[in-house]
Amino acid sequence: MPAPFSFWVQPTKRTNLDSIMAYDVHDPAETELSFDEVTRSMQEMFDRDVISVFFEGGEPFLRDDFLDMVEYATPNAFTMVRTNGTLLTAETARRLKSAGVGVVCVDIEGGDAATHDTLVGLPGAFDRAVEAVRHLADAGVTTFITTILTSHNIDQLQELADLTAATGAEKLGVLRLYPLGRARGNWSRLSVPLPRQMASLEAIQVPDGVQLMQSWHPNDPNCCWQMAAVDAYGNSIGCPYLRDFANYGNIRETSFMETWRNPVYKKVRAASAVEACPECAANDRNRSGGCRSTAYAFGGAWDAPDPYCTHMNNGTDLTRLPRRIVDLPFGAPPTMTGV
Ligand code: SF4
Repeated sequence: MPAPFSFWVQPTKRTNLDSIMAYDVHDPAETELSFDEVTRSMQEMFDRDVISVFFEGGEPFLRDDFLDMVEYATPNAFTMVRTNGTLLTAETARRLKSAGVGVVCVDIEGGDAATHDTLVGLPGAFDRAVEAVRHLADAGVTTFITTILTSHNIDQLQELADLTAATGAEKLGVLRLYPLGRARGNWSRLSVPLPRQMASLEAIQVPDGVQLMQSWHPNDPNCCWQMAAVDAYGNSIGCPYLRDFANYGNIRETSFMETWRNPVYKKVRAASAVEACPECAANDRNRSGGCRSTAYAFGGAWDAPDPYCTHMNNGTDLTRLPRRIVDLPFGAPPTMTGV
C-alpha cells in the first residue's frame, strides 16, 4: 500500500468534559500542532489522494481555528467531525453545512441526562449535545449519534436509538469500549462481558428511518492496512485506537510518509493475524483478524486474534484488562523502531 486511504487528525487533546472514559488526557507540557502543521499534514495526504479525513479530539471545537481546518479539508476529501456537541451552536452547524462537511458525529453516552452527565462529568452536557444534534439536522448536516457501550448505558440502547430518530440524526453508532486513556483505569467499572454486549446489540429495535452501526463482528474487519492518524502533538500513531500503544515518529521531525515506512507500522498494516474469523474468511474478508488495537491490548501481539469477535474470543474475559495495559502511561509511547 503506497499511501493511506483514511486520515484521522486530532486538533487538540483538550476537553471541556471530565469523563471517566476519556481516551485522551491533555499534557500541558506538550504543544499542540499549529494550524499550519495540521494543514501541512493534511496536504501531504491530499497529494497522495487520501479519500477521507476524520477530525476528533479532545473536543475539537475548543480550537478557534477548527472550522478553518474543516474548510481546508472539505474540498479535498470526505470530511467527518466527532464532537461532544456542548459547544456547537446553530451558527456553527450552518457553517459546517456550507463548508460541505460529510458527517458530524455527536457523542451521547446515555439515554438520559443523568447517565450521560455522570459519565462525562458535566451537568447539562446531555441537553447541550441533544441540542447540537438538532442544530445539525436543521442545518441539513448528516449527523450520527455515537455512543460507547459501557456498563452504565448497556440497558439504554433502545432509548438512544429512539433519541436518534427523535432528533433527526440518521444513524446510531454503538462503539465498543477501548482500553485507552482514563477508560483503562476505570475498566472494571465500565466493561461488560462479551455475551451481554452481543445480546444488548441484538435487542435493539431500530426505528424507521434510522440506521444502526456497531463496531463488533462482522462490522469490524481489520482496517489498519489503510489507516493513518496524527495526534495533537504530531505523533504518527496509525489509528486513534492505537493512541496509547503505537508511535511511528513525529511529523514535526520527519514527513508523514517517512513514518508510514516505520517497520512496526508496516507490520501492523500487514495484518497477518494468527487466527481469522471463519465467517469473515468465508465472506472473503481477507483482513479477518479483527481490530488490531484490542487484539494487541488483550493478546499482547500485533497478530493476535481480536477477542471482541465471538469466533475468536477463545474464553477471554473482556472485563479483566491485562496489567501491562492498565499500567501504561497516557498517550503515545516513544517512537518505535523494532518489530
Ligand atoms: S486499530 Fe482497529 S480500528 Fe484502528 S485501523 Fe486498526 S483495525 Fe481499524
